Amino acid sequence: MTAQTVQQGDLVTVIGLEVHVQLETDTKIFCGCSTDQTDEPNENVCPVCLGLPGALPVLNEAAVEGAVKIGKAIDADIPEETRFHRKNYYYPDLPKNFQITQYDEPICQEGELEVSVEGERRTVSIERAHLEEDPGSLQHVGGGGGIDSAEYTLVDYNRAGTPLMEIVTAPDFRSPSEVRAFLAKLEEVLEYLGVFDAERDGSLRIDANLSIISEDEIESGDVTDIGAEALAAANRTEVKNISSHKGAEKALAYEETRQKNAIQRGRAVEQETRHWDESRGITVSMRSKEEEKDYRYFEEADLPPLRVAGWKDEISIPELPSARRERFQEEYGLNEEAASKLTSTKQVADFYEDIASEFDPDLAATWVADNLLGELNYRDMAITDLEGRFEEVTRLVELVSEGEITAKNAHETVLRSMLDDEKAPDEIVEDEGLGKTDEDEVQQAVVAAIDENPDAVDDYESGDDGAINFLVGQVMQKTGGSADPGDVNQLLQAELEG
Ligand code: ADP
Ligand code: MG
Ligand code: ZN
Repeated sequence: MTAQTVQQGDLVTVIGLEVHVQLETDTKIFCGCSTDQTDEPNENVCPVCLGLPGALPVLNEAAVEGAVKIGKAIDADIPEETRFHRKNYYYPDLPKNFQITQYDEPICQEGELEVSVEGERRTVSIERAHLEEDPGSLQHVGGGGGIDSAEYTLVDYNRAGTPLMEIVTAPDFRSPSEVRAFLAKLEEVLEYLGVFDAERDGSLRIDANLSIISEDEIESGDVTDIGAEALAAANRTEVKNISSHKGAEKALAYEETRQKNAIQRGRAVEQETRHWDESRGITVSMRSKEEEKDYRYFEEADLPPLRVAGWKDEISIPELPSARRERFQEEYGLNEEAASKLTSTKQVADFYEDIASEFDPDLAATWVADNLLGELNYRDMAITDLEGRFEEVTRLVELVSEGEITAKNAHETVLRSMLDDEKAPDEIVEDEGLGKTDEDEVQQAVVAAIDENPDAVDDYESGDDGAINFLVGQVMQKTGGSADPGDVNQLLQAELEG
């Protein structure tokens, strides 16, 4: 990390995250109930996930596989054997009165993730990532739906037992915007791995810890270098109920200001758990922060130790965005910006590689990174909205590549109409009469443009290179825009110099 300078008297913001990620499995982590959350409330429940006496959990292999993939992606140590623990607390969404989680032997230990923040690469340490079960969900009804104002609360146990990975970062962030960049990166990686569905409501939930530390604690002048003792001694708040990147940035910006104001007025910051109230844009005090001893962790005797020993080596992960980005630069000669755009999701990257293998990689990059993503973005669409139409886009690139239509028409007329009217490219070319004018016709237009514009010809001959652009324009007009401007330019030069 590069040094960031700190001014005398500055207060430094320190943030660490606990990110809960729902793993995308068909069934729950300890029973065979469906994880489909669009079903009727309390439809997907059984004695195990309702915590009925005598019901025994059985670990879902797919959840462990997802955890191992995440571990590999963040370069974590994955011990051969790990264990599950009970974390005891009472809450209406937790029917067993304990949550099965991992305590001192989590499945992923000491990983890291590289993030680019405002063009600078930063490495965020991941202290641990462990498997656990999601609690049920509560719906506060009446009184504005607030947690502290509702008339009553409904509970839905469909979510109870959905597999979660809790990913805990070191307190490595120094601003809310860094957190946002990290979350975007993390989500990108999780989607690449295919273990996570970002579209699913509540699939990523964040607890964010924030404290304010005096710059005196920074030894080397590098703001990221704060001693463990100072970190432990700082009173921090843990903000819960954050469910989006933007929400995290907003909640933390609020909390940063609140704590700094308190300190500047000479008041102490309480160590506490706070709730992010999205609609009001504020954090509110919930309770004093629990300590570890409050949870009375003990080993889950109903589950044997989990041995992933040799099996973990058989689990492979796809090439990750950063590696793929680098390969795209090397293999296809793309610049970093294009390579970044083209690896933004796995689907975009796969599609690019398909097109680049058939046509020129630069042409493919222009079409996918600029034209296609640009037009999709403008319409608030994503690559996923093109599902089933990739062949049509490929055909469009083929039409351009083979010189059947001009690049300008292909982009501005055909592509736009494909997206807006859902028509196929050949149909649009036919309907709009975009097929390129034949060569004789272009040649005739070139000769005519030269005959009709002696002034421009004089200018060109006396060294005014710009005059040719005027003539190109004239030819384009005569051919109804269907000629290729590059070809016209060459034909004009040949004619004028010949
Ligand atoms: P707890 O057991 O109270 O949850 P942990 O040591 O497990 O505490 O840390 C939880 C989270 O708090 C981690 O994400 C960590 O990065 C963060 N954290 C630790 N110290 C600080 C601090 N001084 N300021 C902000 N976040 C911190
Ligand atoms: Mg914690
Ligand atoms: Zn169940």
